[in-house]
Amino acid sequence: MINVDEALALIGQHLPAGRVSEVPLEDSLGHVLAEEIASDIDSPPYDKAMVDGYAVVSDDLADGRAELEVLEEITAGKVPTCDVGPGRCSRVMTGAPIPRGCDAMIMIERSELIEDTSAASPTAESRQRVRLEDAPPSPGAHILNAGTIMRQGDVVLHEGDEIRPMEIGLLAEVGHGRVKVFDRPRVAILATGDELVSPEQRPQSGQIRNSNGPMLCAAVRRHGGQVLDLGVARDRRDALVERITAGLEADMLVLSGGVSAGVLDLVPGVLAEMGVKQVFHKVRLKPGKPLWFGVRSGGDHTSLVFGLPGNPVSSLVCFELFVRPVMAALSGHGFRQPPRIQAALAQSHQVRGDRPTFFPARVQTSGHPPQVALAPWKGSSDLRGLAGINALAYFPAGERAYTPGEMLEVILL
Ligand code: AMP
Ligand code: MG
Repeated sequence: MINVDEALALIGQHLPAGRVSEVPLEDSLGHVLAEEIASDIDSPPYDKAMVDGYAVVSDDLADGRAELEVLEEITAGKVPTCDVGPGRCSRVMTGAPIPRGCDAMIMIERSELIEDTSAASPTAESRQRVRLEDAPPSPGAHILNAGTIMRQGDVVLHEGDEIRPMEIGLLAEVGHGRVKVFDRPRVAILATGDELVSPEQRPQSGQIRNSNGPMLCAAVRRHGGQVLDLGVARDRRDALVERITAGLEADMLVLSGGVSAGVLDLVPGVLAEMGVKQVFHKVRLKPGKPLWFGVRSGGDHTSLVFGLPGNPVSSLVCFELFVRPVMAALSGHGFRQPPRIQAALAQSHQVRGDRPTFFPARVQTSGHPPQVALAPWKGSSDLRGLAGINALAYFPAGERAYTPGEMLEVILL
């Protein structure tokens, strides 16, 4: 039997490249960028005002005050028509281009318009005057020069960057209405077992409800995958062949049940028959030992196949430790594990066994150090004990009594 790190290394050796497609910007949220993005513009595209106020020659306010002629008003979207010079200014609103000849902006709050009483009837030639009073501005005050943020041709985003609302804003600014992204991996989910009934049904004797199917579909969606829900296959060769055929169309096929040593554990045999090459079967961990992994490559399509143990907690733990990193890789994030931290155990705990245990737990990261409380968990079929957990506490193999306050490695879910 191999250990967890060996299993992960083997999986890592069989990963195909993620699929890439070009999508409209509005559909790219949550995807990973599959191209380098260069700006097609200078930003800002012109020297622009950062405040509402007056564009002036800074020397005019060398002693902190000035009375200036107002040439024109430039609001956002307009362009200046006159050059500013000594004794003359223009009123410019935030975001608008500043006129030539000026080198500073004075905020509108520092201004007072002067009533012009000399002209009985103002003409187009009679201009407003304004009194400005402010600390002498340094050249460039409240002006953002063209190209300060980026120049045309600058690379602003890289392959592998996750697209969040801020990246969408930047992509829009630099003219990318469409963008190349890694596709969300398509993950087929197939529960197997003669005993399974749907959540709406009341189990009769010998039956249990299919909890893995809905749980694994949800886990795939939560981690950004597209689900192909194949429902339940009975423990018969023909039923398995039919559903597995459909599942192999996806990037990943995740089965639950039928991979341990029972007489109806047909999954590994049927997969092998269907050309899925086994990479490993059984991993040294608790819960999750029966885990099966294989690959089928044909033409330009590779399917990665996981046979997760039937017990729901084993299924979930294997999903988090092995399936999730593969989804991350196919999504363009790289083959990455869930994050791990060190946390102080909140209670005493006894372990015994030849396999490491990944124990359902709840971590509180607000404290120093973070605290981890083990869930009241009764084994690999106990989903109730999983309610409210957010972590798996890692206990190495061996026999050992842990005391409160001991530091443990904890995997964040
Ligand atoms: P198996 O590996 O198929 O023998 O399943 C191991 C245990 O997990 C058995 O007790 C099954 O009843 C249970 N089990 C298998 N599949 C599911 C499922 N989809 N939902 C809940 N429990 C399951
Ligand atoms: Mg079964």
